[in-house]
Formats: sequence, C-alpha cells, structure tokens
Amino acid sequence: MSQHGGLQDKAATPILLGMVNIRSVAPQDLAPAGLAVDDLSVDFDGRSVLQNVSLEVAPGEIVALLGPSGCGKTTLLRSMAGLERPFHGAITLGDRTLHGPKTFVAPERRRIGMVFQDSSLFPHLTVGQNVAYGLHHKDEKEARTREALALVGLSDLADRLPGTLSGGQQQRVAVARALAPEPRVLLLDEPFSSLDTTLRHSVRNEIHRLLVSLGITTVFVTHDQEEAFILGDRVAVLHEGKIAQVGTPAELYRQPVNRWLATFVGEANLLSVDEAPDDCTTEVGPVTVTTPIAGPAELVVRPEDLKISSGTGGTVEFVEYYGHDAMVQVLLTSGTSVRVRTHAEETFTRSDQVAVSYCGPGAIAFPVGLPNNDC
Ligand code: ATP
Repeated sequence: MSQHGGLQDKAATPILLGMVNIRSVAPQDLAPAGLAVDDLSVDFDGRSVLQNVSLEVAPGEIVALLGPSGCGKTTLLRSMAGLERPFHGAITLGDRTLHGPKTFVAPERRRIGMVFQDSSLFPHLTVGQNVAYGLHHKDEKEARTREALALVGLSDLADRLPGTLSGGQQQRVAVARALAPEPRVLLLDEPFSSLDTTLRHSVRNEIHRLLVSLGITTVFVTHDQEEAFILGDRVAVLHEGKIAQVGTPAELYRQPVNRWLATFVGEANLLSVDEAPDDCTTEVGPVTVTTPIAGPAELVVRPEDLKISSGTGGTVEFVEYYGHDAMVQVLLTSGTSVRVRTHAEETFTRSDQVAVSYCGPGAIAFPVGLPNNDC
C-alpha cells in the first residue's frame, strides 16, 4: 500500500461504480482542502479575459463554473491548475499559496488533478500505463494505479489500449489518472461534452457518486446549465470575464442578480409592467413581487410559476411533451408569448383557448433601462 495511505485502505461508505463494488476512502493525506481565488485577472495579448475574479471553494465542495462560450471558464480552471499565469491576484489551496505576487507553484507541484474535455489518453499506452504516467515513485506506481482503476470501476481493463474503450470508459480512465497521484483538488474541464446524451448521463452519474464518495474538492467547467445544477453544490456563473453570481442552484434560479442571469439559468418569462408593487397587476393577473420597483420593470416568471386552464386570454401555440412534464407555449392577447410548465397528463393541443394565471412563490423584478441590468 502507498506510503500516503492509498486510495482505498480506509473504508468509508461502500459505493457501486460501474459494475464493480468499491469502497470510498478518506485517508488523511487526501483530507479535502479548500481552494480560494482572490482578485484574479488574466490578459492574453493585452486583451482582458478574466477581471478581478474571486471565488472560494470549501473543502469537499463541488463547484461548477458555468457561463457562455468565451467567458473565461477554462482560463480560470487552467489558472487554478497553474497552466496559465494570471498577472494579478492570488490562489491558495488550504493554507498554501499557489500563486501570488511573489509565488508561482508549478502545476506538477500543486497536488491538483485535471481532467480535460477529451480524455487526452496516450493512444500507444495501455490503460494501466496511462494511469501510472504521472506517478514517479516506482514502489507506489502499481498499487496506486490498481486503486485508481478500482475507484472508477475499470480494474479489468488495465491492459487494454484506449482506442478499444468506449468514450465513457476513456473518460473514467482520465479520472483515474487524475486521482492516482492523490490530488487535494480535482479540476474537470467539460468532462462529459464529448459523450453522446445517453452515455453522458450515465457517466455523469457515476462520476458524481465518486466525487461525493471521495469527498474531494472539485471544480468543473460546463456551459450546460442543467449539468451545473445537477453536479454543483454551488455554481459560479461567469459572464464576460467576471463572476456574475455564485450560489446554490436554487439561489441562482430563484434569486438571480440580474436579468441576464435570470434568462441564462433556466427558462424565464419576462413580463413587462409599468410599475412593480408588491401586488402587481400583469397580463396573467395578479403577481406577488418580492423586490418591488416603483417604475417600469420586468418580472421574472418561471414556466412552473404559471398555470393554464380552459378559458380566454390566450391561445396555445404548441406543446412540447417531455414525459415527466410538458411545456405549453401560449400566445396572450397582448401579443406576448409565455411558456407554461404543466403536468404531463394535462392535455392541451395547438389552438386551444386557455386562461393563464400566476401560481408561483413570488417574482423578482428588474428595472427596465438600467445600464447594469444585463451584465
Ligand atoms: P468555451 O466554453 O468556448 O470553452 P470558455 O468560457 O472556457 O469558452 P476560455 O477558453 O477561457 O473561455 O477563453 C476566454 C477567451 O480567452 C476567449 O476569447 C479565448 O479565445 C481567449 N483565449 C483563451 N486562451 C487563450 C490563449 N492562450 N491566447 C489567446 N487568447 C486565449
């Protein structure tokens, strides 16, 4: 067993990953450490890519970096790993400074594991050799490789070449390779985006269980809101190189800080009103407003905050059926289209005449025309 305690020798809760029954671990040397980014700024060729980004990831927490393409997610992740050199700010792991005005710890000395979008395995090396690649102590190589492969449920594939594995298996090997050196933080860059939908869901579920079981501090990049909400204990939303909001999925969904965020995380109907008092009159009837505004405003109304029934005031444009529920798009007489989530068994069809009313917990309002509302 490795002198660092090994990945599997201190049993906690048994978990099942793939078809292999394995045990989760919490050896002392793998005790989760918090990762903190403080006031980080990165430029490329004089162009600002990250501006004064601060983010704290608690020990054992899983944090998603979510944002549209080009907002700087990968640059932030690579800065944490030491693959980019920010010109300003600090990065600390536990009480150890990794990056600061006078400090730069090389990537291989950070004890941070990284998994990339494509598994980036060496095609000419076996699975076992790939996992062992970053291990330097001869006497530990074999045990740690065996343990890491067991963690991802691939012990029996150690002698295979990557090209003979499915995309999901390759990604699990990449995770095993990142875990083998016993990192204190795991960083994943769009780890599921190269997999097709069905495989993505099953691999995501397996990796999620593994991360929770190991209790390892994890930061992962995604541009998929659903994925961020499913995996992230908290989600940091980046927009144009800045942190727009950090919070639990529920906080982001129910208390977005601006209009852009409200529409970026989940679907939102934006209802225009001349003013937004507590008890606001709208084209779908009265709506309780949690953040009243005296002047013109837009109310954020989620599709599940609306209900429809046979009546007047709207015409069903079309229905999207999802099995667990359905989304009905309704054209109101005002000309506004709203999206309403209904139970799957409620049957509406195109051209049905319906009444739409509000049934949500209270809506957030954003003033119209403020410069900072959209960023
Ligand atoms: P995506 O979701 O599309 O991967 P992202 O949010 O991860 O995007 P980054 O990859 O961090 O965004 O890139 C942010 C910006 O920085 C982009 O405009 C990108 O072109 C630019 N950029 C990234 N790396 C470099 C580099 N090494 N040199 C110059 N520009 C770069």
